[in-house]
Amino acid sequence: MKTLLPTSTAGSLPKPSWLAEPETLWSPWKLQGDELISGKQDALRLSLQQQQLAGIDIVSDGEQSRQHFVTTFIEHLSGVDFNNRKTVRIRNRYDASVPTVVGPVSRPKPVFVEDAKFLRSQTNQPIKWALPGPMTMIDTLYDDHYKSREQLAWEFAKILNQEAKDLEAAGVDIIQFDEPAFNVFFDEVNEWGIKCLERAIEGLKCETAVHICYGYGIKANTDWKKTLGSQWRQYEEIFPKLQQSNIDIISLECHNSRVPLELLELIRGKKVMVGAIDVATDSIETPEEVAATLRKALQYVDADKLYPCTNCGMAPLSRQVATGKLNALAAGAEIVRNELLNTAVKGAAAL
Ligand SMILES: [Zn+2]
Repeated sequence: MKTLLPTSTAGSLPKPSWLAEPETLWSPWKLQGDELISGKQDALRLSLQQQQLAGIDIVSDGEQSRQHFVTTFIEHLSGVDFNNRKTVRIRNRYDASVPTVVGPVSRPKPVFVEDAKFLRSQTNQPIKWALPGPMTMIDTLYDDHYKSREQLAWEFAKILNQEAKDLEAAGVDIIQFDEPAFNVFFDEVNEWGIKCLERAIEGLKCETAVHICYGYGIKANTDWKKTLGSQWRQYEEIFPKLQQSNIDIISLECHNSRVPLELLELIRGKKVMVGAIDVATDSIETPEEVAATLRKALQYVDADKLYPCTNCGMAPLSRQVATGKLNALAAGAEIVRNELLNTAVKGAAAL
């Protein structure tokens, strides 16, 4: 990226009410068949325009063609039986009825590649595509086949690598893996989670990112956050190994969170997508609030490696709130960008 402080979002944006029930996760589609296919494409166009009007530099599909960031990908794989459901605890936080792994998992055909080609055809801006990470995938399933979290994650990593290579060929510039589970299962992350992530990006030439957050702004997550105390130091457990990994970009929750930003020093050298928008509240940040978070992060992230972003996806918010937050993100980044450029000009004049 040549732009200083290029802005992007963590991934999802609200869907139009004619496509799916708004402000709801796993919202059922309101259209069917060919109407659904063209409806998803129209929603993608709107989502892209929403980002472009706000001035977002790295755009995404807003996840308009997916019901959920993990489930939709898994639905396209074989070896998982969606009719055979078991109740499990997701990220040690809440119970959910999930599908069962009943045999070897595989990807019969590409999952998101047609959607990515469509997005590519709509814009010349850099595009980012989000996929679920291997550890977060296994955490939303009951495994009755491999009976090993590590082995199932490794199999998913191989499948994700196939998908990522197809997305890269479709013209995606940054492939992001969503790993909120990295914030929970530290020992496993360090033992095999990061290794699985590296298997998922093996051989890719495009940039790669991992998104690690404290979850969507839903009740189960906000209740969990209340139990985490005054300092959230979860990132500290996994940053040293992540810093050593091959992943290019790390996407984090920073704004309004209790994450001590000095922890970012532990991943110095990596590009960091700094979450400067809180997705767990409807109140819209001012550009100055966004700028304040970015300035704090600049103490620990080199300016050419700082990517202003949102804390997480905005799917559960209203479109109006999401638009306000996108505008604030772009405007806040612009304030800090100008400050950095002015400092650079003054520095050059002083030489
Ligand atoms: Zn997230």
